[in-house]
Formats: sequence, structure tokens, C-alpha cells
Amino acid sequence: MPTITIKLLLFEPTKTKLEMYETMRSHFSDACNKTLELKKSNLKMKATEIDHALDGIELPSTLRQEARKLALSRYQDWKKNQKTKGFPSFKNKIAILFNNQNWHLRFDKGYLKVGIPTIEEGNLNIDKYVPVKANEYSLFWVSYLLKNEMDKANRHYQPSYEGISKPKKGNGQLYYKNGKWFFSFSITFEMKQTDKKEKAIGVDRGLRLVAVAGDANSGKYLTFNGRHIGHIRRKFARLRHALQKAKNTKALKRLEDKEQRIIKYWNHVISKKMVRFALSCGACVIKIEDLTSIRSMKKFWKLSDRNINSWAFFDLETKLTYKATLAELRVEKVNPYKTSQECSKCGEIKKSNRRKDTYTCSSCGHKENADINASFNIARRPSIVKEDNSAA
Ligand SMILES: [Zn+2]
Repeated sequence: MPTITIKLLLFEPTKTKLEMYETMRSHFSDACNKTLELKKSNLKMKATEIDHALDGIELPSTLRQEARKLALSRYQDWKKNQKTKGFPSFKNKIAILFNNQNWHLRFDKGYLKVGIPTIEEGNLNIDKYVPVKANEYSLFWVSYLLKNEMDKANRHYQPSYEGISKPKKGNGQLYYKNGKWFFSFSITFEMKQTDKKEKAIGVDRGLRLVAVAGDANSGKYLTFNGRHIGHIRRKFARLRHALQKAKNTKALKRLEDKEQRIIKYWNHVISKKMVRFALSCGACVIKIEDLTSIRSMKKFWKLSDRNINSWAFFDLETKLTYKATLAELRVEKVNPYKTSQECSKCGEIKKSNRRKDTYTCSSCGHKENADINASFNIARRPSIVKEDNSAA
């Protein structure tokens, strides 16, 4: 079952609350350690007996139970690996755990608030809910969880979410990190089996990595390092420049023919491997960027002194289409708009997320080789439907 984790920052908690969380954390740790002690001294002790023994610790009973469960699982883990592991113990500063029944989220006067059992007097009511800060990505999922309906107009929505249903909140935890308190929790979904017949891989064409094929669903990818090809290109560019200067058109033509033969050879190798990769992923569609418009080619212009690069890309496309067809695969084009600036995990589009070879998402933290990330985006994008004039 697919799961995502949402992290929320507690929004300016009062001093009283901060002190209370610290006390709770320390008591939670005490309850864990006491459970371990009890279990160590009496192996046959039952959960109910342990709970009874923890009664004196100032914590809501649900949290004492969570502490006992956590400690017992740590104990079981230790029992299995006694030879290599020392007897467990809990640090004073640990995350406080809440099972899925024991925490709540709601919107109140425009604020997102989280409600958790604490050591404050009285029952949990909306007044005891604390405001939290969520980024847009988190809000998208939180709204889905609360409304059970996905906001398809949201910029974080992706067509691949179509098969997602029945969001359920999982366990939560309250913890302190880098001077701030956070509440994080998981959301699990059910997912319709995606139609295997429509499974696609994406191919990103670039200069550094000549091509990357990526399967967004499994995270598998295949890269073709262009280092030696780049070397050849640079060598030819130098020679070409010299021949142009000398106005030796005959030699220039011969040189260009030779370069084309080498590129054609590599494109043949690359396209063959990409088709094999697509088949191994169980895909039936290979998606590539539609680079027919001049604007789309712009991303390569800066790096190329001649149109030799664009020629090489289209040659790769031709060979890929040819070989794919033979393997009963389709090659489809997708909109190339900012494929390298988009996060393949959450859909955020931000130019500064891409730094040289690496893509780091400022929204969800996803980190990946930039070209691999782009290939996943290409795989997920809807294919451009060719206009069919024959249909009235
Ligand atoms: Zn992201």
C-alpha cells in the first residue's frame, strides 16, 4: 500500500506548551525504559500488567500504551539479535508516538490545527488544538485526507494520482529537531492497478548524459553517459572551426560526414538499449519530449556551436521510433515545458531546484540526478494527441 509522510511545523507554540512537550517527551522515554526493565526482570510479564505498572507516570493512558508497545517491539528485536546487540535503552529526547486513533487534524478559522492528547487538564477539545504550518504540498494531501476528495485543480495534482483512493491517516509523532517542534504522520492509500498496457518510460535527451531512460513507477533508470561522445563532438568542433577558417569546404564536408557516421552509430546503440529497457520494465510506450518547436530546442542552444546537436537528437528519435515499432512499442511525444525544473515526486516546478547535475526539491526534499528526475517527469506526462482530421 502506498504511503506518504507529511511533516508539519508547530506554529509558534506558547512557552507553557513547549515546557509541557518537553515533560511529555521525558515521561514517554521513562515509560519506555521502565517497560524494558520490567520485561528484563520478568520475562513472562503481560502487556496489561506492564500498563498497570506504568500507571504512575504522568502521561495520557494512550501514550503510556504507545510507549509500552514501542519498548516491547525494541525488546523483541533485541531478543532476536542478542549476540550482536546490547540491551536496548531509550534516550531522554525521543519522539512521542500517537496511534492513528489518537490524533486529529482540522481547519479552524483558516488555520490548520492538530489535536493530540496531552497532560493538560480535561479532555481534548478544539481549544487545545495547536496551529501548525504546512507547505502547499502538505496542504494538498491534508485536504485530500480531510475531504476524501482530491483537488485536481491544485498545481501539485498529477494525472498519475488518478488511481489513488481511500486516504487513511496512519500513526503520528511529535518531535523536536533543530530548535523546532514538528508533528509528522503518514497517509496510506489504496491504488487501482495501473493498466499495464499503458505503462510508459520516459527518455530525456541531453548533452552531458546523452540520454536517460526512466521508469517513474519503479524508479528504475538507464543512463547513457555522453562523456566519450562529448569528447568526439568537441574534437570535431575544433577541426571544423579550423577548416572553416581555411575555407576548405571539401575537407569540411568530409569531416562532417565522418562525425555523422559516428553519431549515427552511437544513436543506434543507445536506441537499441532503450527499447530493451522499456521491454524489461513491461512498458509499451516510450515517451520523449516534443522538440520540434524552436523554443524547445533552446535548452540545447547555449551548449552547441552548431546545429549538429539538434541533428543528433532527431536522429536518435528516428532510430528509437524505428526500433520501438519493431518491438511493438509506441513512441509518443510530450510537452517539454520545464521537464528539468519539475520535481518528479511532488510536482513542484522551480528553476533553482536544479543545480548542475542534481535536482533538489525545495518543497518535498526529493533529491535525484537532474536528468533522471526529468526522465521520470517525461514518463508521467500525458502524450500529445495528434490531431486527427479524418474524424468528423
Ligand atoms: Zn518535490
